[in-house]
Amino acid sequence: TQLPEYLTGNSAAIDEFLDKFDVFLLDCDGVLWSGDHLFEGIVETLELLRSKGKRIVFVTNNSTKSRPDYQKKLTAMGIPSNVEEIFASAYSSAIYISRILKLQAPKNKVFVIGESGIESELRTEGVPFIGGTDPALRRDITPEDFNGLADGSLLDPDVGVVLAGLDFHINYLKLSMGFQYIRRGAKFLATNLDSTLPMNHTFFPGAGSITIPLINMTGQTPVALGKPSQAMMDAIEGKFHLDRARTCMVGDRLNTDIQFGVEGKLGGTLAVLTGVSKKEHWEAKDAVAVPAYYVDKLSDLRGATQ
Ligand code: PLP
Ligand code: CA
Repeated sequence: TQLPEYLTGNSAAIDEFLDKFDVFLLDCDGVLWSGDHLFEGIVETLELLRSKGKRIVFVTNNSTKSRPDYQKKLTAMGIPSNVEEIFASAYSSAIYISRILKLQAPKNKVFVIGESGIESELRTEGVPFIGGTDPALRRDITPEDFNGLADGSLLDPDVGVVLAGLDFHINYLKLSMGFQYIRRGAKFLATNLDSTLPMNHTFFPGAGSITIPLINMTGQTPVALGKPSQAMMDAIEGKFHLDRARTCMVGDRLNTDIQFGVEGKLGGTLAVLTGVSKKEHWEAKDAVAVPAYYVDKLSDLRGATQ
């Protein structure tokens, strides 16, 4: 594979790059901001893209937030957005369940391992669910639980799907319940499979690391609804009717964002160096994906007009 073209400081190359695309799928953390710190020049860069008539979609694997939550975050950062431009993995999971799986009652409930963002997107889609932030599950497992899980009396017979995402209260009871539901035939979904969660200049366990125990126990691979899963790309394409050839995925992580764009056969992929992946990662022989372009930081795209 060819190494990416470096655009930083090259106005002619930036203009040529921008002219190639109508739609920019923008990863958020590591591209626009890091945690709660907005990178310099981002607001102006997005304004520039919009002024050129580019369509923007915010595509994030963060499953802890709903789209309205995310819009609040964008607004707080000074980034104008419409809730319909936001495509987060909790939303992508909810619409996959409601519009693709179309579960029929009575087996239409979702057992959630995850936070409120998932619950609120399921609610918006009218999908019934249990688990999630239910305080009754935030406790140690008891002998009664072991019995109830073994004979099924602790399980809701209407559960047809287990959806796993980042859960800050993951415990043995929730994992046991998720395992039992999948064993009994529930479909196994994951919001995203990121191994780690970048935060505070280090890494914490990501949604994928919450899901790994279930993969290990069941021997099954979940359908993942975050990047790089093409289920998410298909959902984005379906919603925005985009022309893949005229769409560019922008991201900081090779094994989520760039792989997502490459496997989705988008017209282009742009890596930024403000997040997880470094140049050495795509220069390595065993690189999972190589971007078509890269810049030091997203705001370098203003190069032509600064
Ligand atoms: N998952 C969680 C829970 C996060 O907080 C984040 C980043 O904030 C991510 C995933 C990665 O998000 P993105 O896809 O925007 O880089
Ligand atoms: Ca990112």
